Amino acid sequence: MRIIIAETAGFCMGVRRAVDLAVDHSTGGSTKIFTLGPLIHNRQTVAMLRDRGVETLDEKTSPSPSARILIRAHGVPPQKREYYEHLGHPIIDGTCPKVTTVHRVITRYREQGYAIVVAGDEGHAEVVGLMGYAGSAGHRVQSPQDIDNLPDFKKVCLVSQTTFDRETFDEIAARLKRRYEGSEAIVRKTICSATNKRQKETRELASKVDAIIVVGGKHSANTLRLANICQKYAPITLHIENEQEIEWETLAGCGTIGVTAGASTPNWLINRVAEHLRFLSQTRKSGIGNAMRRFYDLLT
Ligand code: SF4
Repeated sequence: MRIIIAETAGFCMGVRRAVDLAVDHSTGGSTKIFTLGPLIHNRQTVAMLRDRGVETLDEKTSPSPSARILIRAHGVPPQKREYYEHLGHPIIDGTCPKVTTVHRVITRYREQGYAIVVAGDEGHAEVVGLMGYAGSAGHRVQSPQDIDNLPDFKKVCLVSQTTFDRETFDEIAARLKRRYEGSEAIVRKTICSATNKRQKETRELASKVDAIIVVGGKHSANTLRLANICQKYAPITLHIENEQEIEWETLAGCGTIGVTAGASTPNWLINRVAEHLRFLSQTRKSGIGNAMRRFYDLLT
């Protein structure tokens, strides 16, 4: 069995930066760091950070004023940041610089009187942050059809969640241009190049393998998006969180298996999946193969 690991699989720059900030600032001592939402959608890394005193802030916890607040790569609405600053918490800003760029684009056009249309997933933390910057000028869309339900605008600017699907965004942009013909309609492509590259490579890889494994959190939007892409292009797609979830029976007849992973999947986990695949392919050959090997072992 041949295993091909996607070059773009694993932590993107923004997630790596946020995790590095958490590790660098954590002491494992009494001064905790609270993250606003899980730092990444990977249980093993979250557990490792918890051991170092980095925890996800939940609604029941009131952190002491000395506790530091870490903003994750997705960013937060400006009001949320101001709230914690007002309470006196030191802030560690792990917002991905590319997400900060989208905040700036939104702020600039909103201040010039544009309506802001954000292409993004409902409830996704980054989108909540983007909508916070857009304020009352913000409208969220997820599909090209959503454009038809927007009010009339004289000036409108379209941006997207950095991990949004490029093909869907292009369709949304084309529909927005048609809908607001005669108005000032600006399209800013704010999909992150890392996301673009990952999706493109995933499409290419999924098209040439017998099966593809997508490694990453079941709640990670960008991993789910990769799994959706794979389902379109690959004969078999498995979305797993760790190597124990590999369904060997599904993959047993495959000659080539691709492995890709979401932006919040650490490299050690991807390597562990590949290692386990190699182990399974070597130890669980067909019954005939096993019988022949046992016969050969008896003779030698
Ligand atoms: Fe930043 Fe891109 Fe990663 Fe989003 S996908 S956190 S924009 S590097």
